[in-house]
Amino acid sequence: MSIAQSLIQIKSQLPNHVTLAAVSKTKPVADLMEAYNAGQRIFGENKIQEMTDKWEVMPKDIEWHMIGHVQTNKVKYMAPYVSLIHGVDSLKLLQEINKQAAKNNRVINCLLQIYIAEEESKFGLDEQELEDILSSAEFKQLKNIRIVGLMGMATFTENKNQIEKEFKHLKTIFDKLKTQNYELKTLSMGMSGDYQLAISCGSTMVRIGSSIFGGRN
Ligand SMILES: *Cc1c(COP(=O)(O)O)cnc(C)c1O
Repeated sequence: MSIAQSLIQIKSQLPNHVTLAAVSKTKPVADLMEAYNAGQRIFGENKIQEMTDKWEVMPKDIEWHMIGHVQTNKVKYMAPYVSLIHGVDSLKLLQEINKQAAKNNRVINCLLQIYIAEEESKFGLDEQELEDILSSAEFKQLKNIRIVGLMGMATFTENKNQIEKEFKHLKTIFDKLKTQNYELKTLSMGMSGDYQLAISCGSTMVRIGSSIFGGRN
């Protein structure tokens, strides 16, 4: 199947309330343009330099999502244009995003990444750290960032029960926060291998790469 065909097929399976971020990391601009020409306007990248290179040459009605781990010293390169940062996992990073957003006269939308997997390698906050950040005086001073939701990655496993348990855990945290007055609308969970399960557990945004663009080297 072509990129356009895969994209259209996946989109046709998504409920209306679920947004697709097409994860185009490592893929050439020509591949992204094929998805763009098939109607895709949200692209997810995990390296700031690569995303910026693509942003410079591609149409300006694209929403660029940073889905990877963000190094504080590189925030400035994406601050002029990034539309959503998925993987925010510290107050220090929020403060830097806020500072760079202010320099660009912008408010940058962020998702806080929650650690839900049983793996050492995944980034994210636990529930206590999340509460600590949101209730801190430093956080309340940040006027140029907006927390619009949460993001999480399940354990890399074939065990569907395990993945489901982790997605449901994240959904529970999301719902709890929503009752505490935060205007959260985005729950970013689900990738090529598990997005249907993620949607059944309450995901509102899926990040799909290889099922659209093919495998990465
Ligand atoms: C690469 C990546 C994806 C997409 O993974 P696929 O399995 O190719 O769909 C989603 N989320 C994050 C954070 C990623 O790094």
